[in-house]
Amino acid sequence: MDKHSQDQILSNYNRVLEQIEQAARTAGRAASEVRLVVVTKGHPLEAVEEAIAAGARIFGENYAEEGAAKALACQEQAGLEWHMIGHVQSRKARLVCETYDWLHSLENLKLARRLDQFAAEVGSRLPVLLECNVSGEETKFGLAAWQEPLWPDLLQTVSQIVALPNLEMHGLMTMAPFLPEAEQARPYFERLRQLRDFFAAVYPQVDWRELSMGMSADFPAAIQEGATMVRIGTAILGPRPQFKAQS
Ligand SMILES: *Cc1c(COP(=O)(O)O)cnc(C)c1O
Repeated sequence: MDKHSQDQILSNYNRVLEQIEQAARTAGRAASEVRLVVVTKGHPLEAVEEAIAAGARIFGENYAEEGAAKALACQEQAGLEWHMIGHVQSRKARLVCETYDWLHSLENLKLARRLDQFAAEVGSRLPVLLECNVSGEETKFGLAAWQEPLWPDLLQTVSQIVALPNLEMHGLMTMAPFLPEAEQARPYFERLRQLRDFFAAVYPQVDWRELSMGMSADFPAAIQEGATMVRIGTAILGPRPQFKAQS
């Protein structure tokens, strides 16, 4: 990686931190409530190393194996977290349990049961977020949650997921639709927060604190609506050079 892209990643990273700070401040929140997940999917290991040099510690990957290879290559570096944020195929469930510190994209009971079983075998509990589709776009994964009347129908699934002993529920995750104006994503973030409040009212004993929402194009609005984790790739690392469509 040349000096120019190193400097670029450092200045992008610092600018994003400032934008997080600013968005939190305008919402009367502390920036320390918002964790920055640097999304390295499609970027080479050198980009991860530059992000570490800039100060990043939490990384997000979409493809189980791509992330596992990077995590392995970085294992000498203490204090890193690897978050799986993409669709998990059931045959990758074991790898996810072995490799990742968090899963943002838990989207159905079948996957939850598999993960629970592998987590037991690996001997650790996996922190998870429930991915929710709050836009109704067919291309999106997640629980069908785009209208409030659908929410009670989710409770049967959710009650079974939160009962799994080797998964640790912490909250919800969503992806807003790609829209021309960042502001247009705000209603989807608001809806995810309301859905979280709905689950929290039904299951007050479960931890629903985390809201993973907001990407490069829309994270300030997500933070103003309560995001506790933002997943940012392009704004820090630039466009993805190779998008590996295998997983
Ligand atoms: C790729 C991806 C991101 C990051 O997107 P950018 O627009 O590059 O910031 C965040 N979340 C998920 C689930 C992704 O797949």
